[in-house]
Amino acid sequence: MSAPVFDLHAHPSMKTYLFKKKIHKSHKPGGAFNPFSMRVDLPKLRAGGVNGLLSAIYLPEKGLLDDCFPLKMMYTFAPRRLKRLFSGNPFDETVMLIEHFENVVSSAPAVSGVKLEIAKSRAELDKVIANGDIALVHSVEGAHSLNSDPGNVQRLFDRGVASITLAHFYENGVAPPVDAVPSHMKKMGCFRKPKNLSLGLTDTGRQVVDEMMRLGMLIDLTHCTPKAREDVFTQVGTSKPLLMTHCGSFSLRPDPMNPTDAEAKKIAAGGGLIGVIFMTHWLTADHKPWDILRYVVVTIRRLVGVVGEDAVGFGSDFDGLTDPPDDLVDPSGIPLLARELEAAGLSTGTVEKVLGGNAMRVLKAGWGR
Ligand SMILES: [Zn+2]
Repeated sequence: MSAPVFDLHAHPSMKTYLFKKKIHKSHKPGGAFNPFSMRVDLPKLRAGGVNGLLSAIYLPEKGLLDDCFPLKMMYTFAPRRLKRLFSGNPFDETVMLIEHFENVVSSAPAVSGVKLEIAKSRAELDKVIANGDIALVHSVEGAHSLNSDPGNVQRLFDRGVASITLAHFYENGVAPPVDAVPSHMKKMGCFRKPKNLSLGLTDTGRQVVDEMMRLGMLIDLTHCTPKAREDVFTQVGTSKPLLMTHCGSFSLRPDPMNPTDAEAKKIAAGGGLIGVIFMTHWLTADHKPWDILRYVVVTIRRLVGVVGEDAVGFGSDFDGLTDPPDDLVDPSGIPLLARELEAAGLSTGTVEKVLGGNAMRVLKAGWGR
């Protein structure tokens, strides 16, 4: 690969905080759904030739406790380190998670001369990658972290956060969510409440979008209802690149989580990106346990056909409590994906754009003033 490889969405910070996983150590995540696994670590990123990622900071939402009885029971016995995530001020706790991850990264030793670095600006991003190190760029998943205060957008931007995923599991006063939990994972009575897909962006949401555009932050529409996505398309037009960092294609997997071709074209028209998720559930209803990297390839190839090679990327969602394809379980699988994309008929140039060239372009175009 001559272009950098860049993942639009992964969650190493969550595992380093919740389970105290060491990011410089090599982990064996396996293929099955395993919330305690660690997939994004320095040796795996190196093995996969990954140069950078939008590293999601996710503050567990308070709604989880009401919606998930077993979690509520476990909460009673949780250590204070975990309890504070639900009981504290959401913005302050998000900042705590950012600082915690920065400490984890800065104290992680280099592996074979390559180290992880938090990049807090476009210039830092370029520098880290030019040095041959791996750049982690903060993104915040779920506007519940803003605690309903649009003024907190600037505070995150000033800390080096490049993007915010507006919605997540629950209504957050900014953008309403789709149902993002696969039915087969709704175990033990969790996540049963239906989502209202007719809801759109709130007034606070419109202020947040304006503020993000003013500052130069990338708006991630993943998890938003189709109505909220439409509201953002209307508000932003083609003036700024928009992202859907981890999703499939509605045409292949009709689910409100995924953009329709018309939506994908709107994102492309503004110079934005659709990041294909590495989770079979969102890519196909044809759930076979073998050869499933194929669905990532099929989705990327189809989206490239619909919106062109400049508007497609990937957002693995590794470590996001997801169930990845059995043959693409961690970042070390990226070279295999590259080979499969070429075998599916994409040119080397297109593959380089999809695996990182486009992400680098969008970060340059949409981050900072
Ligand atoms: Zn997500």
